[in-house]
Amino acid sequence: MNKIVIVTGGSRGIGAATSKKLGALGYNVCVNYLNNVSAANKVVKDIIEQGGKAFAYQADVSKEREVIALFDSVEQRFGSVTHLVNNAGILFKQSSLMNMDLERFNKVIQANVISCFLCSREYIQRILALDGSLINGAIVNVSSAASRSGAPFEYIDYAASKGAMDSLTKGLSLELAGQGIRVNAVRPGFIHTDMHTDGGEPDRVDRLSSQIPLQRGGTAEEVANAIVWLLSEDASYVTGSFIDIAGGK
Ligand code: NAP
Repeated sequence: MNKIVIVTGGSRGIGAATSKKLGALGYNVCVNYLNNVSAANKVVKDIIEQGGKAFAYQADVSKEREVIALFDSVEQRFGSVTHLVNNAGILFKQSSLMNMDLERFNKVIQANVISCFLCSREYIQRILALDGSLINGAIVNVSSAASRSGAPFEYIDYAASKGAMDSLTKGLSLELAGQGIRVNAVRPGFIHTDMHTDGGEPDRVDRLSSQIPLQRGGTAEEVANAIVWLLSEDASYVTGSFIDIAGGK
């Protein structure tokens, strides 16, 4: 059976690195993105140039109708989605909680948690409707080391959204274990991507590197390696697990 994967937020950073690795391994990849069509198209081009199959699809995965349209589109293009990477995520400028407004908190929960709920539910409903013998699926959620640290004075809203993602990972892994669908998460910390610019400090990873046991920030590719492994049959006895990718922090 073909392996067909959606990588939410596949246009940049960790999602782009993951999409490219999965494409090179023979997965048919849907590179989802929100705004950055040129970045998404570049990921697709890289995959196709390596002999893989991919297409880009714009959808705000925090919106139910757009998630349904995303899955419909992948089904038409490649067939039923067999694997899912819930990677799309956002954060806003560093701030203490007392200065956060409700609109910001809601946006972070919507983008980081509701997206994971909507995509996971759509994936499960569709894969469980298939012939049982074909089911061999897996979900990987991209959480964060912030779920453990709480991210005080920076982004408690973001940390709380990732804490919710961890609970969702655990509960869903138990709901689906009997059906052979594995659900795991990675918890990156301090990874060199554009996200820190959104947080108001593009050089945050370099500033904090002396506090990281491995003395450096990580790369998107180092996170992608763990995601790809968790999706694969090499991780066939792993579910409800978390891999911390934070240089020992
Ligand atoms: P990034 O470089 O800022 O990329 C974010 C990606 O998410 C982009 O592809 C963006 O699309 C997409 N996106 C955002 N909101 C979306 C939505 N509503 N619907 C669809 N796509 C959406 O971020 P990153 O650092 O690679 O982060 C990826 C994941 O890793 C996130 O969940 C983040 O929380 C997590 N993480 C990152 C770090 C780190 O240090 N970087 C640490 C821990 C966890 P566009 O390109 O179209 O804007």
